Amino acid sequence: MPSNRRCTFCRQSETAVGKLISSPSDHPRAYICYECVAICNSIIAEDAKDRLNLNFIPHPLAVPFFTALQEWLYREDHGEDGSAALNEVRSFARSILRNASRQNSGGGESPCHTSR
Ligand SMILES: [Zn+2]
Repeated sequence: MPSNRRCTFCRQSETAVGKLISSPSDHPRAYICYECVAICNSIIAEDAKDRLNLNFIPHPLAVPFFTALQEWLYREDHGEDGSAALNEVRSFARSILRNASRQNSGGGESPCHTSR
């Protein structure tokens, strides 16, 4: 099937960039290419290197997070309702940050830690 999908960030076609990573959900479907992932990662690394554990950059949620972020920014820029996308951004951000703080605090593996 010929593809005319484009990166939601840079608008390059899938044939130009080789491979697009899709958003996990369909409201609406978004794609990101490896070039944009690399740019996002370098921006985040630059921004956060003094504050956050950089282990979150190869985090499996990094792509859906930035995809949702892009969707939200797009909607904001176009005067559309971005609240659904913003909720996604929040939810991915919470998951990523929860993971990062767990890694920072000495690697406690068990999420349900019962104190007796
Ligand atoms: Zn791109």
